Amino acid sequence: MALLNAKTLRDVRKCVEKYCANYAGGVCILHESPCDYYGKYGHSVSCDYFEQAVLPNEPLLQKAYEEAHGIINAEKEAVKYNVGKCAKCGEAFIKRSNRAKYCGACHAVKQREHNRNYMRKKRSS
Ligand SMILES: [Zn+2]
Repeated sequence: MALLNAKTLRDVRKCVEKYCANYAGGVCILHESPCDYYGKYGHSVSCDYFEQAVLPNEPLLQKAYEEAHGIINAEKEAVKYNVGKCAKCGEAFIKRSNRAKYCGACHAVKQREHNRNYMRKKRSS
């Protein structure tokens, strides 16, 4: 299955030549074999070293590459942030603390209710 289109693969190869420390004249020093991206399946291989150490040098290419490989950013974000479900409206939201139960909008409403109750109690006592 081809993942990268011809242009992206061409750019990947350029990126390998330019930045990959293991690339020497078409051969990967690390794997002691021809660089995977130059092989027959270059458009669908996945080299860990390339993805982690070489690709970040070219942010635009990295984006195209990750999209083609189905490495979706939303997935990464979900891991990075703690995504919770609002206890009031059920909307997904990013938790800023582990105790957060409500989304931004509901939190504001709750806060207002809380303040109102507090003021009422204060006045009646
Ligand atoms: Zn909510």
